[in-house]
Amino acid sequence: MAVAQVIIDIPAQQTNRPFDYEVPENLTALAVPGVRVLVPFGRSGHLRQGFIWRVVDKSDFAGQLKPVARILDLDPVLNQEMLALAKWLAQDTFSFLISCLQTMLPSALRANYQRRFHLLAPLAANDPLQALLDREDSGLIPDNIAADLLAEIKRLEQKGQLTIDYQISQKTKIKQEKVFKTSLTSDQYQGLRQSVRANAKQQLLLLDFLIAHVPFVGNSATWLVKVPGLKAATLSQAVKKGWLAAEEKEVYRQPLTEATATTPKKLTSEQQAAFTTIIKSMDQAEHTTFLLEGVTGSGKTEVYLDAMQHALAAGQTALMLVPEISLTPQMVERVQGRFPGQVAVLHSGLSVGERYDEWRRIERGEAQVVVGARSAAFAPLKKIGIMILDEEHESSYKQEDMPRYHARDVLLKRAETYHCPVILGSATPSLESRARAQKGRYQLLRLTKRPNTIQMPQVNVIDMRQADKIAGKSDLSKQLVDQLNLRLERHEQSVLLLNRRGYANFVLCRDCGHVIKCPNCDISLTLHRDTNSLKCHYCGHQEAIPSACPQCHSQNIRSYGSGTQKVEQEIQELLPTARILRMDVDTTARKGGHERIIKQFGAHQADILLGTQMVAKGLDFPDVTLVGVINADTSLSLPDFRASERTFQLLTQVSGRAGRADKQGEVFIQTYNPENYAIQLASAQNYEAFYQKEMGIRHQGGYPPYYYTILISVNYRQEDQAVQKIYQIQNWLQPQLSEAAIVLGPTARMITRINNQYYYQLIIKYKSEPRLLKALQTLIMKMQSKTNRGFQLRVDREPMQFM
Ligand code: ADP
Ligand code: ZN
Ligand code: ZN
Repeated sequence: MAVAQVIIDIPAQQTNRPFDYEVPENLTALAVPGVRVLVPFGRSGHLRQGFIWRVVDKSDFAGQLKPVARILDLDPVLNQEMLALAKWLAQDTFSFLISCLQTMLPSALRANYQRRFHLLAPLAANDPLQALLDREDSGLIPDNIAADLLAEIKRLEQKGQLTIDYQISQKTKIKQEKVFKTSLTSDQYQGLRQSVRANAKQQLLLLDFLIAHVPFVGNSATWLVKVPGLKAATLSQAVKKGWLAAEEKEVYRQPLTEATATTPKKLTSEQQAAFTTIIKSMDQAEHTTFLLEGVTGSGKTEVYLDAMQHALAAGQTALMLVPEISLTPQMVERVQGRFPGQVAVLHSGLSVGERYDEWRRIERGEAQVVVGARSAAFAPLKKIGIMILDEEHESSYKQEDMPRYHARDVLLKRAETYHCPVILGSATPSLESRARAQKGRYQLLRLTKRPNTIQMPQVNVIDMRQADKIAGKSDLSKQLVDQLNLRLERHEQSVLLLNRRGYANFVLCRDCGHVIKCPNCDISLTLHRDTNSLKCHYCGHQEAIPSACPQCHSQNIRSYGSGTQKVEQEIQELLPTARILRMDVDTTARKGGHERIIKQFGAHQADILLGTQMVAKGLDFPDVTLVGVINADTSLSLPDFRASERTFQLLTQVSGRAGRADKQGEVFIQTYNPENYAIQLASAQNYEAFYQKEMGIRHQGGYPPYYYTILISVNYRQEDQAVQKIYQIQNWLQPQLSEAAIVLGPTARMITRINNQYYYQLIIKYKSEPRLLKALQTLIMKMQSKTNRGFQLRVDREPMQFM
């Protein structure tokens, strides 16, 4: 008997192992690892979706095995490489196997569980369930159903007045389209034409076309274009009459529009040297990791493109990750322009259907080049020849939810399987990667100059303690505003960075000092003018702006601090003719929001692009000659050992937006800490000096890359219990660590309460702790016990956020 070991799609510790099922005789051929199945699960025996993990010939399970109910795929959706990768990932990130498997696949392949109730007896008048029956999806029990309604359903079920059934469906279907083909000869159509009445205008129109165009195939859109005046209904009638044949054909939903084809550039000698080294490693099938450190605009992308070309020429495929694809439409266009028709994209901006179709194009080998964001690290390419991680220092490559993986680690792991090199590229590499290059674990390649005559921008630091400021405005120096004005006169464009969205940071009562805070979190609410409301940026809570202080009822309340909305308004007042575009989470929430703003700015339909760190990424516009940073200090003041590194990266990246074409660019950085080394070295655009300096500080403080870090965090709805639990964890863990490990905490997280949960944490710094991994796995198990119900534990390896 064949036994399928199945991973069920319930992410919990209790179900984090394969369950055995009997494979019915008629399904044995299809029951292979990596296919999705439906199996009865739990006491209810309701069907759940799962993945076959392994097929064996006998089970250790003592009882009677239940049979696999259905096999959903003709071919595995996860191949051997992916299954092995999932196993590694689950271990490496302390995650459930099912969470890893699901992360690798488009959400379209996940099951949609629907519960629906059916009445066996009529409802009593005014039964609250009537509301659910009256809805369009009559009888559907929504996931977020109110507790009292659910109780009512249970009550009636127990009384035998209704039944509940479970349905599983796929989230999206393969898209089909009707294709119409000619089915007769030209002569036959000619014959038909004689017999058709003279007033059957539509039929005559169609027949005239057919006589001259046999054979012809197309969907209804193609036909309607080819035969002007023809109606879609006429095509359907023609099928009924036997004039045409129709069939359903699978089509892809395609997110990419065509880009203009481009040709490779002649590489500079630095680029050529990097390229030659990389392809040598490709040709020898080595899984070398290259760190391509190149100043902004030094032509890293050209090197990537040539390396990808080299892979394609050898019959291999190429994978390229970018931090946030919606922010870098220009990058996708460049890749597409180089490899027309061969590129697929994978990112969260796609619809469920588009993502599924792009995934299938890759899986079937129809797209050989993939460009995508973090999750595209799992793109089902085969025969990968090169993998690229652009802007490798970006923290968005680390996923904050389970599985908490870093895309870099996934690429390096896959490179072992494919024996191919990985290129990590950045103008400002993470200290971790740069240090590995120092030690020789990565191979360092450097681009120190921009190609042709484009100069690096000139950077000026404005000391805000002494600068002339514009009265009555939030922190705007006269110097920066003059520069903006100059650009307006010259018809050039400016980019302004302000790392804070909304209108004002907080609202304060000037009489009693009360600050209006979120009712669910320990954080003040941000004022938003466009919606005239106060919003919590952590839990989404929103409330009206009060007219009086909630505490002392004084009307003397005011807003303080400035965000993008306020600065936009102020600059508009100062420069009435300026056309300003604002780019932040609020203006880009809708699908395509980024692209629209970037397109508008690129077409020079605006003079100033003002936004949060989104404006720092990969934009390349020839008319931008000024970059202004309004508050360089915001990111410096964060209580995180990476604060300086982040500031340096952000300032360098945003400076790189200035003067990319034939015009010299200028950068103005406003700061209250002009002598800070991160600001000084960013303005000198001296990454290597920053690296040296920061390494010294990390060494002294005992931080990465000198130590590894693990964050252990517990949250609970009562603060005292959360505190108790974190101390328990510490007491249990400490004896299992060596003397050399350093435990920081327990401490409250900086914002202790979010969404009415209290967060307490420990940070472990270590160099080598052979027993730590096992201990943490045990901890995760222990936290699943009944006594720990309601506590949430998070174990995050190399966390990016410590707050
Ligand atoms: P990076 O990826 O390092 O920011 P890019 O590849 O975007 O740099 O190059 C910056 C600009 O220089 C682009 O406009 C690009 O077309 C141009 N460029 C890059 N390499 C060359 C080259 N070898 N010759 C001419 N122009 C180049
Ligand atoms: Zn007050
Ligand atoms: Zn909140």
